[in-house]
Parts: sequence; structure tokens; C-alpha cells
Amino acid sequence: RIRLDNVVKTFDTFRAVHGVSLDIGSGELVALLGPSGSGKTTILRMVAGLEFADGGHIHFGDQDATDIPVRERGVGFVFQHYALFPHMTVADNIAFGMKVSKVRRTKAEMAARVADLLRLVKLEGLGERFPNQISGGQRQRVALARALAVDPKVLLLDEPFGALDANVRRDLRRWLREIHDELGITTLFVTHDQEEALDLADRVVILNEGKIVQEGTPEAVCRTPGSAFVLNFLGDAN
Ligand code: ATP
Repeated sequence: RIRLDNVVKTFDTFRAVHGVSLDIGSGELVALLGPSGSGKTTILRMVAGLEFADGGHIHFGDQDATDIPVRERGVGFVFQHYALFPHMTVADNIAFGMKVSKVRRTKAEMAARVADLLRLVKLEGLGERFPNQISGGQRQRVALARALAVDPKVLLLDEPFGALDANVRRDLRRWLREIHDELGITTLFVTHDQEEALDLADRVVILNEGKIVQEGTPEAVCRTPGSAFVLNFLGDAN
């Protein structure tokens, strides 16, 4: 469980995140939804430990996040620009996280784990290809397999399907939901795409100008938009 309590982040004089409080239950899939510049990525980076809050607190379970070094937070990431290593095969990209993690594995154990992950992301047989020999959607699946390779407790996804076309995005959404349901990893997902958030998440948190303007199940926020902003923003999806 992750808890944000009145979190503030200021860049110079610009307040990017304005007192955000949020509770993410264990195993929940939560979407942070909002227009460009609303603070979504900044929140994700603070949870990851890549950015420090200058007000408020973030807790992982009972522990204050500032007491947990980044590598010990048990967090896996996928970003929009997949950033796979171009000179490494798919299998080596997936294994990379295991090599730098604290858990020691033998070569055979690593190979077995990579094979399991390739099966999980439905890329069996593609382990020896290089990133430029697979499609964009397949590359995002490799990025997710790499994030999962270290058995994260929390998965952070920043517009992971952003650069892909609508059909591929739809397929990947369905597939991500299946993987989430199978593994039950607490997942925080950033998107500016209303359809994506409503389709995928257990709970949607809508942000504007660094503040939460509404949160609830996809059904609840669609049924009762709390403000003209939410109504307009969700309306853009149709
Ligand atoms: P997008 O969908 O465009 O990625 P976002 O909702 O994720 O937007 P953030 O990236 O969190 O928004 O940015 C929130 C605000 O903070 C923006 O106005 C951005 O310009 C500003 N910001 C983010 N990072 C920095 C930084 N390192 N230095 C200065 N300003 C920043």
C-alpha cells in the first residue's frame, strides 16, 4: 500500500504538485489522468524516488519513503519511450534488471526466469531478436517484462502505450489488465487518454494544475463528473 499525504513539489517558483493526498491499496490498478502539465509524471517520479517532494509525505506500507533507498523500493518502471538497450537482445534486455538487482541468480536461473517472462508477455521465440527487429507494441511488452524481472512490489507506468496506434493500444490494454489480474501487483499508471484510464483502471484519479479534482471508479466519475472541468475533459474522449 502506498500513501501520499499532502505532497507538494515546486520547481523554482512553479508549483507542479499542489498538496496531493492519495491512497493506493495493495494490488490496486490506479490511473492518474489529466491534461499535459497537470503533474502526473512528477507524482510518479516522486513515488519512484527519482524526485523529492518538498512538502508532505509518501509512505510505502508503514515506512516513510525517504527512508527507503530507490533500489530497495521494489519498484518497476515502464516509460513511454521504451529505452530498451538497442545493442542487447530481447532476452538480455529482460535479464538486465536481474543482473543489477541484489538477488543473486545463477545463469541457468536467469535463463529460466527470462523464458517465463517471455511466455508471460507472449513473446516466446523472440528472445534472440534485437529491439529494432520487433514492433513497437512488442517493444513495450519487452519493457514490461524487464520491469517485472526483478519481482517489483509496485509497477509504475508512464504513458507506456503513448507512441502506438489505437488498435495496438487497445490490445496492450487488455493484455496489461490480464497480467495485472494474474500477478496482482500494485500499479500506478499515468495517462492523458481518458478512454485508456476508464477502460483499464480500478480507480481513476483526475488531476488538473497539480491538484486532484476528482477520484473514483471509472463508472462513478463518468456517472457524476464533479465539475465542469471533469465533464469537459471526459467528454473529449467521445
Ligand atoms: P505530460 O502529460 O505532458 O507529461 P504531466 O501531467 O505528466 O504532463 P509533469 O511532467 O508532471 O506533467 O509536469 C508538471 C509541471 O511541472 C509542468 O508544467 C512542467 O513543465 C513542470 N516541470 C516538470 N518537471 C520539471 C523540471 N524538472 N523543472 C521545471 N519544471 C518542471
